[in-house]
Amino acid sequence: MKQKFKTPYYLIDERKLLKNMKKIEYARKFSGAKSVLALKCFSAFSVFGLMSKYMDGTTSSSFYEAKLGYDTFGKETHAFSVAYSKDDIDGLKKISDKIIFNSVSQLNHFYNDVKRLKIGLRINPGISYSHFDLADPARKYSRLGVFEIKEVEKVLNKIDGVMFHYNCENGDFEIFSEMLDKISAKYDKVLKKINWVSLGGGIYFTKDGYPLDKFCAKLKEFAAKHNVQVYLEPGESSITNSCELVTTVLDIVNNGKTIAIVDASIEAHMLDLLIYRLSAKLEEKTGANEYIIAGRSCLAGDVFGEYKLKRKLKAGSEIRFSDAAGYTMVKKNWFNGVKMPSIIVKRLNGKTEIIRQFSYNDYVKSLS
Ligand SMILES: *Cc1c(COP(=O)(O)O)cnc(C)c1O
Repeated sequence: MKQKFKTPYYLIDERKLLKNMKKIEYARKFSGAKSVLALKCFSAFSVFGLMSKYMDGTTSSSFYEAKLGYDTFGKETHAFSVAYSKDDIDGLKKISDKIIFNSVSQLNHFYNDVKRLKIGLRINPGISYSHFDLADPARKYSRLGVFEIKEVEKVLNKIDGVMFHYNCENGDFEIFSEMLDKISAKYDKVLKKINWVSLGGGIYFTKDGYPLDKFCAKLKEFAAKHNVQVYLEPGESSITNSCELVTTVLDIVNNGKTIAIVDASIEAHMLDLLIYRLSAKLEEKTGANEYIIAGRSCLAGDVFGEYKLKRKLKAGSEIRFSDAAGYTMVKKNWFNGVKMPSIIVKRLNGKTEIIRQFSYNDYVKSLS
């Protein structure tokens, strides 16, 4: 019998996750590039047992993320932060293998504290691929990484590696390849002196149809040319299409269009979509029944999207939003005091486990 859980819940499916992991393993085998999970996208450590078999460690944006990676994932712990505090550095130097600075000033400031670790510097190549200004690292007045090559050259004796994170949702291999060639030429002198290069995240190499073999060949050629270990930092690509947000329709109202209100909220539970003005995805048969599917918070624009469905919805109907792993659970919040979705994992063996349920107490504890 099919188990029935109380909605709302995020359902992480390890078999779907495994498909991405196999591609990451394939990329590692045929390109030599190591992959570290970007925790800012996905931090559901209940499935790290599976992921850590296929990936080389984690990368982070803060001390807490780095510590989570160290405690729950293991293997290599990479630290990055747009700006470290002294407390961050004191914590990180006990747990991280690599510490990547965002600026030359921070590198110089903390150099003596961390010189026993492998030190990296984020370089901003001034080129990027992104559909959104908000997520474009090369946007005007960007603070992400060092722009001037001369600045980098002055500290070459202090660094062991560099990081370029310049892609966001890039599924176009040809563009990736051209940009890598530009970086390869522009930073040739720098790359000759260091041991590793992280190419960041945002490359959609686990998507169906992506030319994975060409991608591997490209990375391999780049690594050989500069004699460096290449790292990738996949966030979204590690977990794409591996989770659903399962909800129930509570009410149907009509105001020019038919609106189904579910027991979740895009503002609270899939915030990234709202920020980028994207619709949540549904994978079901389309038909003649048109609905706006909306959240239950009081925000007027708490709308998951407009859909044409084959079935008719009524109070009690289940709605499963797909592709709900990345930038969802890490951003969920208690806006409106709306019940937070539980986290449920479907293991490789098909068994389903409730990992976490959130209660009124959790809500209270998040406030003062
Ligand atoms: C956000 C980020 C990533 C992960 O990006 P995805 O688009 O989720 O793959 C990796 N590295 C850095 C430095 C990032 O800021």
